[in-house]
Amino acid sequence: DVRVRFAPSPTGALHIGGVRTALYNYLLARQNNGTMILRIEDTDQTRFVPGAEDYILKSLEWVGIKIDEGVGVGGPHAPYRQSERKPLYMEHALRLIQEGNAYYAFDTEQELEAMRERLKAAGVDLPQYNSITRAQMRNSLTLSEAEVKALLQANTPYVIRLKVPRKEEVRLNDMIRGWVMVHSSQIDDKVLMKSDGMPTYHLANVVDDYLMKISHVIRGEEWLPSAPLHVLLYKYLGWEKEMPQFAHLPLLLKPTGDGKLSKRDADQMGFPIFPLDWVDPNTNEKASGFRESGYLPDALVNFLAFLGWNPGTTQELFSMDELIKEFTVERIGKAGAKFDIHKAKWFNQQYLRAKSDEALTEYLHASLAMEGITCPQEKALKIVSIMKERVTFPKDFWEQGKFLFLSPTAFDETVAAKKWNDEAVKVLTAYKEEVAKLAQFDAVIAKATLEQVTASLGVGTGKILQALRLSITGAGAGPDLMMIMEIIGKDEVVKRIGFALE
Ligand code: GLU
Repeated sequence: DVRVRFAPSPTGALHIGGVRTALYNYLLARQNNGTMILRIEDTDQTRFVPGAEDYILKSLEWVGIKIDEGVGVGGPHAPYRQSERKPLYMEHALRLIQEGNAYYAFDTEQELEAMRERLKAAGVDLPQYNSITRAQMRNSLTLSEAEVKALLQANTPYVIRLKVPRKEEVRLNDMIRGWVMVHSSQIDDKVLMKSDGMPTYHLANVVDDYLMKISHVIRGEEWLPSAPLHVLLYKYLGWEKEMPQFAHLPLLLKPTGDGKLSKRDADQMGFPIFPLDWVDPNTNEKASGFRESGYLPDALVNFLAFLGWNPGTTQELFSMDELIKEFTVERIGKAGAKFDIHKAKWFNQQYLRAKSDEALTEYLHASLAMEGITCPQEKALKIVSIMKERVTFPKDFWEQGKFLFLSPTAFDETVAAKKWNDEAVKVLTAYKEEVAKLAQFDAVIAKATLEQVTASLGVGTGKILQALRLSITGAGAGPDLMMIMEIIGKDEVVKRIGFALE
């Protein structure tokens, strides 16, 4: 049975890398008729941010990742919030102590600091609390049983640490990276239970993955250094056979490729890296989301799927269902994936353009409503048909098509300098008069009339087209001019040319 989990910590807005992790888990689950679990890893109370869990749920819902089991849904292994599972972790930590694989450590902050100073002076790097240093510290390996008992009875603060062996090769076979080997001398005696009675990420993560029968752990590369420690935990808890398969996803890199993608890069370059808008309740800092920036969820999913994975063909457009069919962990790369926002925009364009004109008019009506403008559906359909090849975001129908509703108040000066001349004035004056006389008006008539006028004045139509466009739209380029004139109608055409000629 494929059982995968997305296990975010509610420490703030979900980064787009987290959405990618969730997506890859989801694809594997769906492909195998498996189960997608959402577990909230909220054991670090100092980093808890109110609203973050809700944000995670809303983000997953928006991109179309459905949770089968977990927070918000329930299931056979409830509760799925780690803060509600505290007794379970203590139970396992105590078992590790009883079996000699973990120990109580009573060292105070000052004692730990003194140890670090000593090590620093001796030129020793990490790890610090390990098979060598633990012998000099105050823990249940160096104190007598009676001393330990007395300290515990006196409610002396303690942590529980994993007893990492001195000389052991720890190995794991990552589905993406192959065999990863770490010598145990490189691993700290990591804290498993903190003095506040909460487990650390490592213990809670392993205990829950086991109890929730997780088959595959797909997560970001930043967790790869923790994986050997997790392997040791599986071993000491007697769960080696049930250990999930690991797949550590490549990092998301800055668009330039040099270093990890951060919110700062995104802000500087003016693109979102969070799925939804977010205001941090502690700092009031605002971050903009893909949704509010006008990205369609299917476009974002397609873009994220390609951040680290490729189908091995030239096909780029994949619906969620196609991704579910085609996705394989084997085709996930090891190399970091450059976050190319232009590619994200390209995907958005493709998905927008693939919608029916009918559906696109809804975006137009929505932005018009905000401007207090109403527009008959027949006109809206014409507008989207001439605009759809040019827009990246739904809001572009309005932003790049304002001239379809408002007369230009300014004209592009560089175009005017080149194209607005005596000849243009002469033709436009005549054209305006001819159009004013017409009983019927549409794109075909507009064009025929223009050709008549230019022919009779002996001027090439091509030479004055841009001047006409300038007078109608204010700009030198845009969608089909004859259709624009049809959409705005005869009277508006006459009025705008008249204004431009003034
Ligand atoms: N809580 C961890 C996180 O926030 C989960 C890492 C894992 O999937 O093991 O990313």
